[in-house]
Amino acid sequence: MVKKLIFLFIFASSLIRANELSFNEVVQLENGGYKISFNLDKVAYIKSYSSNDPNKIILDVHDAVIVKNFNKKFNFPIKEISIANNEKIARLIVDLYEPVFWQKPKQEKIDNLIEVSFDIERKRNLKTSKRDVIVAIDAGHGGKYPGAVGPNNILEKDVTLLIAKELQRTLQDTDGYEAVMIRDGDNTISLNKRYQDARKYGADIFISIHADGFRLSSVKGASVFIWSEESSSTIARNLSDKKREKIQAEIKNIEPYDFNDDEARYKYPEIYKNKIKQSRNLGAKILDQLKRDPYTHIHKENVEYADFRVLKSVDIPSVLVESGFITNPEDAKRLKGKPGRRMIARSIFLGIHNYFKDFPIEGTFSEDYIGHVTYTIQKGDVLSEIAIRFGVTVNEILDLNNIDERSLYIGQKIKIAI
Ligand SMILES: [Zn+2]
Repeated sequence: MVKKLIFLFIFASSLIRANELSFNEVVQLENGGYKISFNLDKVAYIKSYSSNDPNKIILDVHDAVIVKNFNKKFNFPIKEISIANNEKIARLIVDLYEPVFWQKPKQEKIDNLIEVSFDIERKRNLKTSKRDVIVAIDAGHGGKYPGAVGPNNILEKDVTLLIAKELQRTLQDTDGYEAVMIRDGDNTISLNKRYQDARKYGADIFISIHADGFRLSSVKGASVFIWSEESSSTIARNLSDKKREKIQAEIKNIEPYDFNDDEARYKYPEIYKNKIKQSRNLGAKILDQLKRDPYTHIHKENVEYADFRVLKSVDIPSVLVESGFITNPEDAKRLKGKPGRRMIARSIFLGIHNYFKDFPIEGTFSEDYIGHVTYTIQKGDVLSEIAIRFGVTVNEILDLNNIDERSLYIGQKIKIAI
């Protein structure tokens, strides 16, 4: 009952004002591409896609109204930007003369508005408009919150950031993937901001990285969690009234321009259901890789449900990886060293990759998987390390690319069969 009343309150307050969408501008970029932008009053649930028509990019902005009728014409390759409204969705259609490489719209707060923007770029050999998959990486804790503390004062917040950076490194130099870091330094970030930022970055999936702590140092191993409303309400039922009120206040304490994921679960039940299903699929793929890693112990054999608020986005498949127990000497030693952290990052990366093989996103390069990924050699890269990061051998890389290890150069694109 309490829950229902709270929900009605949230719902009613959000109906006071419609979220107004208006055209902002199209500006040419240095690389010859264009940045297309719109304005909103508050962050929205936006579904963007390049449809069956390869020359169209469509943005469905949910629960928004278009304030100005803005059919406009622009320079090549943009033919026209037009709108098609219905009661619930403000649809923006970008008509193109040819397919483009595009980026998923980002939502950014500028002054009193939310700017929705995305870049398009002409690229040769595109048959349809395509974009990268965006992975939001959330390094747990940070700043004034150290998280769990292990032997010799090893801190969870440091371990999670290093694993996050290792994962980012692999993703950002692999074609078809873009990594965004929820935090890339020792910053204090609220739980609300973490999942809100994932939406603003246009994340397709959200990975939160943690390390467990427990009073018994014998407990060890990695586990994978997803959020569920049931586990959340079970925990809520067992809390004292005071604590429950405190948590609910925190949950409601999102910025007025931010998106209300709690309300959205009621508004878009099918989207939420699908998100839980896909979170489970993604979690299973990551867990499967962790199980294959000979150095990582497993704490829980199945994907677990838990009340980790950071995972509760209504539509972005979200998984939390506990990379081990920092309070266990063996796990702590593993997580303290680069090789151990690299293995966790690799399991997560391969899990993500296997997930997109099974569930590619329409209009992204994940649709075109042909048995290998393409990685661009970076300064300081060593082939043996690359092999470990992708879970292959050096010889497999050399054979597939028909290259000599000594002939590697920065910027070189190599194929890796995974
Ligand atoms: Zn943690």
